[in-house]
Amino acid sequence: MKRIFIGLGSNQGDSRALLRQALADLEARVDGHLEAVSSLYRTAPVGYTAQPDFLNAVAQFRGTGEPEEWLDHCLAVEAGLGRHRDGPRWGPRPVDLDLLAVEGQSLATPRLTLPHPRLYERGFVLIPWAEVSPDFRLPYGSRIDDLLNQCPDSGRVEPTEGPEWAEGLGHAGEGSE
Ligand code: ATP
Ligand code: CA
Ligand code: CA
Repeated sequence: MKRIFIGLGSNQGDSRALLRQALADLEARVDGHLEAVSSLYRTAPVGYTAQPDFLNAVAQFRGTGEPEEWLDHCLAVEAGLGRHRDGPRWGPRPVDLDLLAVEGQSLATPRLTLPHPRLYERGFVLIPWAEVSPDFRLPYGSRIDDLLNQCPDSGRVEPTEGPEWAEGLGHAGEGSE
């Protein structure tokens, strides 16, 4: 069983409730289980800045299956929670689920690049990720805490609630497997 990391974001609707629902829906679909979840962070939007702040978090799953299947599950859960792909790129969305990394996997196809190509420049990804697994090493790459220390992003990332925001989901917040 390998570790799979998913970046969660939301800036439309009841974001906290939507992110909880997204984790529950993912866990119901995937060949694996939720192992750890970061705190919840309020972050400044990037790319397209005329939109509300985001809530972001990172989740660690442990499971099997092909990376493409994990992407399919992410996209299906997003759609189920009202995501429509008709707005501006990086625009507002009820739920965004990015496959950040699948342990030992490195690939680039038209629909899936792993590790996620923009994680290196994103404090809103690396800060929660370093909280969950600072010593995880990307394939052919660095530890997450080293990436965070090298990250040039100065965007606002403020913790708003500890990992208990995901209480009752998987094993998150229990401090053990
Ligand atoms: P960003 O990828 O910069 O965070 P975004 O999350 O807003 O932007 P989306 O519109 O959600 O981008 O996704 C566009 C497409 O990116 C998806 O349909 C998917 O096929 C592709 N994609 C490629 N690699 C990944 C990945 N590692 N995780 C999620 N989607 C990916
Ligand atoms: Ca994204
Ligand atoms: Ca996405």
